[in-house]
Amino acid sequence: MALLGCIADDFTGATDLAATLVRSGMRTVQLIGVPGADDAAPEADAIVVALKSRTTPPAAAVADSRAALGWLRRAGCTQFFFKYCSTFDSTEQGNIGPVADALLADLGAGFALACPAFPTNRRTVYQGHLFVGGALLNESGMEKHPLTPMTDANLVRVLSRQTDGTVGLVAFETVARGAGAIRSAMTALAEQGRRYAIVDAVTDAHLRAIGAAAAAHPLITGGSGVAIGLADNFRAAGTLPERADPGALPRVTGAAAVLAGSCSRATLLQIATARAHLPVLELDPLATPDAAALTAQATAWLADAPHDVPIVIAASATPEKVAELQRRLGRDAAGMLVEHALADIAVALLARGVRRLVVAGGETSGAVVTRLGVRSLRIGAEIDPGVPWTYAEGSGPALMLALKSGNFGGADFFTRAFTAAEDAP
Ligand code: ADP
Repeated sequence: MALLGCIADDFTGATDLAATLVRSGMRTVQLIGVPGADDAAPEADAIVVALKSRTTPPAAAVADSRAALGWLRRAGCTQFFFKYCSTFDSTEQGNIGPVADALLADLGAGFALACPAFPTNRRTVYQGHLFVGGALLNESGMEKHPLTPMTDANLVRVLSRQTDGTVGLVAFETVARGAGAIRSAMTALAEQGRRYAIVDAVTDAHLRAIGAAAAAHPLITGGSGVAIGLADNFRAAGTLPERADPGALPRVTGAAAVLAGSCSRATLLQIATARAHLPVLELDPLATPDAAALTAQATAWLADAPHDVPIVIAASATPEKVAELQRRLGRDAAGMLVEHALADIAVALLARGVRRLVVAGGETSGAVVTRLGVRSLRIGAEIDPGVPWTYAEGSGPALMLALKSGNFGGADFFTRAFTAAEDAP
């Protein structure tokens, strides 16, 4: 039975958390959306339910999160984790506060820590203030985010505005003294009636100490970073065995392909690098702003493409071309058009026998996974940090999927991904 039940407020954030848990020795499965009441729990140490609740109205985020919690409790999980972004992406109304309030109430608990720190990605919390690299959150560019502008770096204040509970701070001086000091400070805050504690963390050692201090907490909230210490608690309690290979996946054979809808710099470089080694089709949505016509171009190209090497199909374009298409169609319509085409092309790839698929782009991954009817991803080893191979199951054939957030991965990611899969035990 699963030990740790996680609720993530977006799709790539869920994968990031799941990969962290595998690295710490927990077999982990990510579920897409709240499973049905009759869906059996997967065989795993941790289950991550991926929601799209970061920017939905608070009432919807709360309802989805409570439904996920109810399902995870029935699946036997004993501790719960609410995962949000390491930049604390939220609005004045939520959704971090309202969701955490509702989860605490359902669990009959009165206190949770909140720690978005992720030092590997240079997100740190000091004196309750969130830094992105050397900049305060509100001077990091996040203050201009289109959906969740973060104009205040003081997380005690930010979270206070989203909850009717009160928020305290476990500051660096305490965190630096280790798990015992952090545990005592959190207990004191809970006894004073605080519902939350923002906990400072600047290094992974701090995150491990915070994890140890929260061993008995029913709910932990934070970024994926603060999850790094949780497996140790279960091992210490004797509930989690040493797993020789927590990322072991069933073997899947079949043709290999890459589908790219990200226009991020890293993805553009990966496509350019792949051109020298693999067959690459570059679609031009600006010249052909029609999803059906783009899909037809791809299927025509596929008819002559080789089966024995990975192939790459990309809609990705330079910022100038993207801006031009957005100017003509509107931002949302431009994105939807390309996502629609790539999801259709994914179906064509599967029909052609592709069973190992890399998808580049967060929104693109969401569109492809939805279209393919994928419901669960068993998380394997990482190809590059934050991008694991996964074993996908749903309404179609079993697949190996690697869902890459646009800016992740090295230049040779598209070639290396498949070598990594072949080298896996
Ligand atoms: P990332 O992870 O890099 O943000 P996403 O897939 O989340 O990538 O977002 C990229 C968006 O850009 C998607 O909505 C995709 O459909 C859209 N897109 C891809 N290619 C083009 C293009 N040539 N012109 C306009 N929009 C595009």
